[in-house]
Amino acid sequence: MASTIRSIEELTLEGVTTFIRVDFNVPLKNGEVTDDTRIRAALPTIQHALREGARVVLASHLGRPKDKVVPELSLEPVGARLAELLEDVDVRLTDDCIGDGARKVIQDLRDGQVALLENLRFHPGEKANDVDFARELGGSCGAYVNDAFGAAHRAHASVSALPGLIKERAAGFLMRRELEALDKLRTNAPRPYIAVLGGAKVSDKIGVMEALLEKVDALLVGGAMANTFLAARGLNVGKSIFEQDKLALARSLMSTAEEKGVDLLLPVDVRVGDSTEASEPQVTSADAIPSDAMALDIGPETEKRFRERLRRAQAVFWNGPMGLFENAAFAQGTLAVARAAADCPGFSVVGGGDSVAAIHKANLGGRFDHVSTGGGASLEYLEGRPLPGVEALRT
Ligand code: ADP
Ligand code: MG
Repeated sequence: MASTIRSIEELTLEGVTTFIRVDFNVPLKNGEVTDDTRIRAALPTIQHALREGARVVLASHLGRPKDKVVPELSLEPVGARLAELLEDVDVRLTDDCIGDGARKVIQDLRDGQVALLENLRFHPGEKANDVDFARELGGSCGAYVNDAFGAAHRAHASVSALPGLIKERAAGFLMRRELEALDKLRTNAPRPYIAVLGGAKVSDKIGVMEALLEKVDALLVGGAMANTFLAARGLNVGKSIFEQDKLALARSLMSTAEEKGVDLLLPVDVRVGDSTEASEPQVTSADAIPSDAMALDIGPETEKRFRERLRRAQAVFWNGPMGLFENAAFAQGTLAVARAAADCPGFSVVGGGDSVAAIHKANLGGRFDHVSTGGGASLEYLEGRPLPGVEALRT
């Protein structure tokens, strides 16, 4: 029999201590959560477990504490925000994710109560996928739920070793939604299927580019990544960010696209500035970038061509901003692509930390069919690679 991934609704949770791996890796400033999107995204799963009468144990990593306690990376502000969002539910933060304190808090939980374990990455066992650490963490729990899609591509203890120790395991609602949306693109995406890739580096996204070239009708490339392709075509990119050591790779991707009959569109014009702080963008043709200029956004003619492709798309996957969108003077290309992707007649998915930040900033999130909470995870999944945190859920 083929292995399956159960959904949280298929588990009996009443009176069961239920370990839920969530992605509460939120931005903090002065000890406050500045964007609670990820906390809200986990609420349906947490609330379902509570309604079913589970004793809920939540766990997450936060930032990069490098295997030791970093007080600024405590989940305390997250617990406070969660308690506000859950209103009448009591949320208890443990002083550490393992040890006597955590054990006592978990043992004392009653039905419908929530414990939030302190930052998983305060211990080396998390990243090392250490089974003993996993056992200490959640070995006493009767059910395991993973709702942290954004962490599913890492073989870490809370997403990989731990579910192997708990027979009653399942995907939470957010995890399920992510897998369903990305599965639609992985298998039988409706055509035309258009992918838009941008962002900082080609090297970050080689795998997904290769995989997409097998599936899409057109691949639109923008952002700093496009500069590497322009340079590979022999164009002068001035002071633009590009990867000198990836020119051969870019050439080989371009010839793969040609072999597969995939239209690979590069910018035909760009917005340039003399530095990343520039405030007055100049539009130039992509083959006339001045030697002292940086290409920081796609240009209006490129926007038009990309829009034209997206206008008829039946499926769209977009990852990576088209330019240095953090500087408002160079955000236009990204916003134009965001609007066009969202408004396409087909199924639109956006993934990637910075791309998602860009669409939220412009309030466009609600216009996509799916906004992935996982950057790296969504790319690896689309690439067709098995994600450790997904594989570990199979029963
Ligand atoms: P995502 O997080 O969506 O996957 P990346 O992390 O790959 O995206 O890249 C996002 C970063 O790339 C942003 O900080 C953006 O400013 C930068 N970027 C995009 N285009 C350019 C460009 N032409 N020049 C400099 N930086 C760029
Ligand atoms: Mg990023």
